[in-house]
Amino acid sequence: MSISYHCPKCDALLNPNVRVVLIAHHANRRCIVLMSSKLGEYQVICDKGFDLEVKKGDAVDFLCPVCAQSLTSEKHETFTELKVVDPQHRDRPAGLVRFSRVCDEHATFLYHNDGVKAFGEEAGLFRDNLAIEGDWGW
Ligand SMILES: [Zn+2]
Repeated sequence: MSISYHCPKCDALLNPNVRVVLIAHHANRRCIVLMSSKLGEYQVICDKGFDLEVKKGDAVDFLCPVCAQSLTSEKHETFTELKVVDPQHRDRPAGLVRFSRVCDEHATFLYHNDGVKAFGEEAGLFRDNLAIEGDWGW
């Protein structure tokens, strides 16, 4: 399934191509990051200097490249939240993806019509907190 990722604040499309484009912010540094649009793939392309500075366990703030607002989840502050749309089924309600913003912590949750799906080796640590949550109204 190909997914369109959108900013939940301004609705801009964040993956005009195969990569999801975000701004990463850590300490005093900002850079462009390109992420895989495939859920559960964690290879990230970014500025090498930024990559060296951010250490395992550091929380990175991800921002929308269009409206520059923070994409950090209000409910789960160590997670980033994006809106997701299935381009083949635009009539369906938009879903939500949450991924950990902690460096090297691989945990992603997809909330959509068919329920919740978890991706990443560390997802199990958060499942109780993030997956059993009937608050997204579909
Ligand atoms: Zn935005």
